[in-house]
Amino acid sequence: MSRVLLATRNREKLAELQRMLGHSVQVLGLADVAVFEVGPETGATFEENAIAKAVRAARATGEIALADDSGLAVDALNGMPGVLSARWSGRHGDDTANNALLLAQIADVPADRRGAAFVCALALAVPGAPATVVRGEWRGRIRLDPAGTNGFGYDPLFVPAESDVPGGDGRSSAQLASQEKDALSHRGRAIRLILPEVRRSLVGQE
Ligand code: IMP
Repeated sequence: MSRVLLATRNREKLAELQRMLGHSVQVLGLADVAVFEVGPETGATFEENAIAKAVRAARATGEIALADDSGLAVDALNGMPGVLSARWSGRHGDDTANNALLLAQIADVPADRRGAAFVCALALAVPGAPATVVRGEWRGRIRLDPAGTNGFGYDPLFVPAESDVPGGDGRSSAQLASQEKDALSHRGRAIRLILPEVRRSLVGQE
C-alpha cells in the first residue's frame, strides 16, 4: 500500500488527511517513524516553516512527507500574530493567554476593521525532488469576546465570513462541528489544493 508521512503528532490532523486521501493510502505520523530532529520553527513566513519541516521529514525518513504551518493573521495588527500565533503571549501553546492578549490589543478596533484570516501553508517533499507548497486561507472577523468550546487556539474568537452575513447564524469557528470546519477551513482548503500533487507522487512511489 502506498503511504505518506504527515510531520505532526496531532491525531486530528492525521485523521483529517486520512479521510481526505481514502483508505488506499496509509497516513503515517511522527509517532510511526524513527525519531529525528524536527527543528525549531524560525521562518518569517508560514510557507518557509512548512517547507523546512517537510524537507527535513523526507530527508530523515525517505518517505513522501507533508508538513503544515498555520496561524491567524489579523488585519488591524498588520498580519500578526502570524507565524508567532502559537506563542503570541510568550508561552507556547497557551491558548487562553494568547486569546486574552489578542482581544486586549484590538479592544478599541471597531467592528468594520476587525477582519482576519486563518492561514495554512502545506508543503509536500518527495525525497530527491524540490518541495511544493500551497496556501489555504479562511477569512473572518475577530469577536469582542470568546464563544464556543469546539476546536482549539483562536477558534472561539473567529467568526468565519460564511456565518457573518445578513441572515447568517454568526457562529464562531469554535461553534462549528468538526466536519463543518473541515469544509471551510484554511487547513481543509490547503489539503484539497495539494491532494492532486500528493496523488501524483504516490503513483511514482508504486
Ligand atoms: P499549528 O500550525 O497547528 O502549530 O498552529 C499554530 C497556531 O495557530 C495554533 O497554536 C493556534 O494558535 C493557531 N491556529 C492554527 N490553526 C487554527 C485553527 O484552525 N483554529 C484556531 N487556531 C488555529
